[in-house]
Amino acid sequence: MTNYVIAEPCSSRKDTNCLDVCPVDAIHPNRDSPDFATADKLHINAQTCIGCGSCFRACVAKAIFDRAELPAPLAGYAQENSLYFQAAGRVPA
Ligand code: SF4
Repeated sequence: MTNYVIAEPCSSRKDTNCLDVCPVDAIHPNRDSPDFATADKLHINAQTCIGCGSCFRACVAKAIFDRAELPAPLAGYAQENSLYFQAAGRVPA
């Protein structure tokens, strides 16, 4: 299954179209999260994402990539997305 990752183009921009279209609340921090205002970027929970691609199509910053097609300079963002959820205690480390 395709799995998506949010990379550097999201940083400091944090366009929120993706939050509006995700059917499974896989993108965080969402607007209800205490850290939404201070977060530098958004992240996709690989364990929740169903790979529908809606966020990929909605992102005006072109910050969302198929995990398998991340450009080499952005490869670290696959782990960065995962670490966000591990640090937040949302998935096992
Ligand atoms: S691919 Fe679909 S399910 Fe996965 S984060 Fe994007 S909108 Fe949500």
